[in-house]
Amino acid sequence: MVPSAGYDMSILSAGGTLVIDTSKSWRSETSPRTGFNRRALRGLAIVAKGKQIERIGMGLFYVKSQSDPKDRHLVRAKTARGEWQCDCQDYKRRGKPCKHIYAVMFLLALPNILLKNIEALEGGQVE
Ligand SMILES: [Zn+2]
Repeated sequence: MVPSAGYDMSILSAGGTLVIDTSKSWRSETSPRTGFNRRALRGLAIVAKGKQIERIGMGLFYVKSQSDPKDRHLVRAKTARGEWQCDCQDYKRRGKPCKHIYAVMFLLALPNILLKNIEALEGGQVE
């Protein structure tokens, strides 16, 4: 298990497995058709895009706005006290994880994800 600098990796299960759609509190955000959490997928897309997230301090991240390239949102990672927070309208309105929060969660979870798939990454070539 890679140390996560004291963040509550609520997106990860105890075994370090990525959880997208199994949490009760997030179930309402899950697409009944695909079973995926829409905002989590948007967050993953932000990470995959690259150069969208800047760490500015302990548990503090800027995430570029996806609608306005000149704008950015401040995400505060959950630590011992307090919840994950973002200053975007989506979070303010709903009080639940937005795509910016999911993006940072995914970013912080990546070392674990890579380690759990290291054989697939470094394995021999398929003949
Ligand atoms: Zn946000």
